[in-house]
Amino acid sequence: MSKQDRFKAVPMPKQPPEVRIHNFNEVALGYTEEQAIKEAERCLQCPEPKCVLGCPVGIDIPAFIKLLREGKFREAIRKIKEKNNLPAICGRVCPQETQCQMNCVLGKKGDPVSIGRLERFLADWEREHGVEIPEKQPSTGKRVAVIGSGPAGLTAAADLARLGHEVVVFEALHEPGGVLMYGIPEFRLPKRIVQAEVDYVKKLGVTIKTNAVIGRLFTIPELLKDEGFDAVFIGTGAGLPRFLRVPGENLCGIYSANEFLIRINLMKGYMFPKWDTPIKIGKKVAVIGGGNVAMDASRCSLRLGAEEVHIVYRRSKAEMPARKEEVENAEEEGIKFDFLANPVAFHGDEYGWVRKMECVRMRLTEPDESGRRRPVPIEGSNFFMDVDTVVIAIGQTPNPLIQQTTPGLAVSKRGTIIVDENMQTSIEGVYAGGDVVTGAATVISAMGAGKKAAESIHKYLMNKR
Ligand code: FAD
Ligand code: SF4
Repeated sequence: MSKQDRFKAVPMPKQPPEVRIHNFNEVALGYTEEQAIKEAERCLQCPEPKCVLGCPVGIDIPAFIKLLREGKFREAIRKIKEKNNLPAICGRVCPQETQCQMNCVLGKKGDPVSIGRLERFLADWEREHGVEIPEKQPSTGKRVAVIGSGPAGLTAAADLARLGHEVVVFEALHEPGGVLMYGIPEFRLPKRIVQAEVDYVKKLGVTIKTNAVIGRLFTIPELLKDEGFDAVFIGTGAGLPRFLRVPGENLCGIYSANEFLIRINLMKGYMFPKWDTPIKIGKKVAVIGGGNVAMDASRCSLRLGAEEVHIVYRRSKAEMPARKEEVENAEEEGIKFDFLANPVAFHGDEYGWVRKMECVRMRLTEPDESGRRRPVPIEGSNFFMDVDTVVIAIGQTPNPLIQQTTPGLAVSKRGTIIVDENMQTSIEGVYAGGDVVTGAATVISAMGAGKKAAESIHKYLMNKR
């Protein structure tokens, strides 16, 4: 292989920006077999692979890449699935550039191996050629309730089912999948892909009960005492939106990103009137925030017909938590970025609809507890932007229902559930993981937590009389 080929990643085919801004189809089209093998051939098969250290679930990355480049796709996906039950999802939305790929030695001189794209290729190949259902351990006779069907809950459920336990997942919404189904848009993560991975978990024998809000239908003490469960895993995520708390935030035309994205994704607002969920979008949209949620809301707005979409972020581009690839996609699509600006008030018309957003310019000072430089307002720098739709995407915290209905459950000041190193909460037999423990984080960290909790629950159940 030439030096040039070694250090240059095979590009991923994508829909051109001028085409994709008019549809909700997936932007990235995936590698062909030839492209995947060519990319896999770049891997050096390091004897001490640094990439593995960057993977929160510890996939044997060089081993699956070796199998892939030998054309052994079935064996390669099996290798991934030893550690990861949801590869088609991770291959699409994991922030590989700050995890496995950041550690890849090739990244020192050129492009790291595109590990995520190879994972996606294999998961898609398997879906098209028949998904293998792994052997399960014999039944243990133990029952586990999993609350929430996001990546943490699905991973814990799949691992526990494989270990021989009976698992019932309780999901508050009418579709399983958590943020994967209700938050991340179709053009980044098609819902048929999430559905296929949910179906895989069901084929392992997991029962999923939707429209089942724990804390209302049953409380956790009731699940343990009356419903016959031996252990509980809480994976309820961080679905409660945060707001700016500035004057005018209740005007019509201002959405929380949660409501906005749920309407579009889960309730199929982008297919209105075929689907009965209207979503009103004006001509000039401002999305507040700099994470993946803000990127998704801005790119949805464009596809729904907005003429101009601005991302307004209080820090600079370097501090944006969104995935690099998605920031580049948003830029290509024509989203405008207003850095170092923060809204201080919204002003409406006589009918109560938002018309102007008042912002203040910011400057960055020393790093705060997040490690990013802290933004502070520049006095007297107020300016106005004409807007008719605003989406607030400045973060989420856990919904407090479980915390409020579970006596003795230790909770932090931020509303997250406190767990020990085994993911056990302050209550024996009750475990938790994912965003409800860490606050809003990533799909793979939620999966890693679900995996770790499943291991601990298994040990607990096997030692329990
Ligand atoms: P969730 O996915 O939030 O799932 C929790 C589930 O629990 C939900 O289905 C909820 O309905 C259910 N639930 C809540 N309360 C109850 C109850 N009382 N009873 C029953 N069920 C309940 N991460 C990435 O790695 N890459 C990305 O590109 C990315 N993009 C994102 C885009 C958006 C718009 C959002 C919102 C998040 C994004 N994230 C991304 C973050 C990632 O999706 C989350 O970190 C991850 O989904 C957390 O998983 P979880 O299983 O802990 O919770
Ligand atoms: Fe291959 Fe990069 Fe991992 Fe080395 S660090 S084994 S080159 S993917």
